[in-house]
This record gives sequence, C-alpha cells and structure tokens, in this order.
Amino acid sequence: MILDLFKLDGKVAVVTGANTGLGQGMAIALAQAGAKVVLVGRRNCDETQAKIDEFGGQSAQVLADLSLTESVDQVLSGALDAFGRVDILVNNAGIIKRCDAIDVPKQDWDSVINVNLNMVFLLCQAFAKQYVKQGDGGKIINVCSMLSFQGGIRVPAYTASKSAVMGLTKALANEWASKGIQVNAIAPGYMATNNTSQLRSDTDRSEAILDRIPAGRWGTPEDMQGAAVFLASKASDYVNGYTVAVDGGWLAR
Ligand code: NAP
Repeated sequence: MILDLFKLDGKVAVVTGANTGLGQGMAIALAQAGAKVVLVGRRNCDETQAKIDEFGGQSAQVLADLSLTESVDQVLSGALDAFGRVDILVNNAGIIKRCDAIDVPKQDWDSVINVNLNMVFLLCQAFAKQYVKQGDGGKIINVCSMLSFQGGIRVPAYTASKSAVMGLTKALANEWASKGIQVNAIAPGYMATNNTSQLRSDTDRSEAILDRIPAGRWGTPEDMQGAAVFLASKASDYVNGYTVAVDGGWLAR
C-alpha cells in the first residue's frame, strides 16, 4: 500500500546540525517514520534526543565539528558504531555570515564555503562509498536555499555555497543513480530559526520578506518534515537530482 512506501523501519538516518532548527525538525520526522536517527552536532543534541524518546523513537548522538575535515570519518564511524549501517544522510548543518560583498573577509568566505559546500561533498562521498559497500543503495538529502536560485543580499558566500550544493546534488545523482543512490535536496524558504534571527529582528527586511511569501508566514522546522520523509523513503526511488522547494510559494512569485 502506498503509505507503506514512506515508512523507514529498519533504516538508519544521519542528520547533521540536529540540535536545533530545521535539522531537529527533520530528525524527529525521520524517527517518527521509523528510522534510527544519528544526531550530529558540534554541541549536544539532548533536546532532540529527548523529543524522540517521548514517542519511543531510537537515536544516538555524535559530536562533530563540521568545519574540520577529520569529522567526516568521525560522523560515519560514529553512525556505524551506533547502529551498524547507514541508509540516509541529511546534510543540514550550515552557516551564514552577513556582510556587504565588498567587505567580506577571506576568512569568513572560506568558513562558509567549507561548512556549507566542502563538508557536504566529503560527507556525500564517504556515505556513497559506504552505501556501495553495503550493496543496497541509499539516500542523500542536501539542504539548499532560496539562494540556490536567487542572489540574495549581503550573503555572497552563502549564495555561492547553496547554489553549488544544488549543482552538486545533480552531479552526484547522475553518477550514483546506477548504484541505487538517490541524491536530492530541499530548498527551505524563509524559516524561523537561528539562521534568520538577525534578518527577522530587522523590522524593514522582515516585513518586506513576509509581504512576499504567498503563505503569509515564515516557515517552521515542521514544514520540512513531509519533504524529508518523502526524499528519505522508497516513495521517492525514481526522484533523483531534484531540489524541492519548501517555501510557502516564494519561488512561484
Ligand atoms: P540553525 O538553527 O542556525 O541551524 C544550523 C545547524 O548547523 C545548527 O545545528 C548548527 O550548530 C549546525 N552547524 C553549523 N556549523 C557547524 C559545524 N561547524 N559543525 C557542526 N554543526 C554545525 O539554522 P537552520 O535554519 O535550522 O539551518 C539548517 C540548514 O537550513 C542550514 O544549512 C541553512 O543554511 C539552511 N537554510 C535555512 C533557512 C532558514 O530560513 N532558516 C533557509 C534556507 C536554508 P550550532 O547550533 O552549534 O550552531
């Protein structure tokens, strides 16, 4: 039956940046759908784990700073130690630095590109190797942005990184489809999380953004949950290389 295709029983999902915001929302959804979830954070993910415990879900935590290349092995081996295999990777961790393009320090450019793009590629690569070793495919969900489609203002490194992640999603899908690996992305619209706290506290920008969202409200971590479960599940086995916007209609304007 169709709803069975959305079930994730027996699957192991790894979500980066799972301590808060969109990562927390997606981790909870994957656990509710039946997956064992590995919560990756540079800080503890106790709050997310407690929310998963509440409904009897299974999770484990891996502490890792995703600005460091050695964290790639740490994330994969931590997940394998916890649950013995991996089936779903959600590359959610990301950072944003706001500054006029003309003044962006090289160090800030590098740190955004490193976490938002380099680490995403390295984690995709490590997980794809593990999926091939396991022999039965796997899912990768990258988190893009409206700025995968648009230029944005005062966030040039963020725009460059998120645009690149949308391209990378297509490139990896092409190469790995024949190995049973689907690589897709979700592009959140304007969501009420730490990522946008600065933007939301700027009254003029906040009002201008809200006026342009057809849904008439900022998105929430819960708004990510349906798309995350779909792209993690068998229901999306013939969907590959695609970026799904969860944006309250923003891109339709
Ligand atoms: P958030 O609350 O700031 O969450 C970002 C997550 O990434 C946090 O868990 C953060 O950990 C983690 N992270 C950042 N740097 C890390 C590092 N070096 N090592 C490990 N973890 C690290 O914002 P969010 O909105 O939920 O963002 C989630 C994703 O959605 C990001 O990729 C973001 O770019 C993307 N996104 C968000 C929006 C939006 O409107 N909110 C729109 C489009 C795309 P800490 O809590 O320790 O910082």
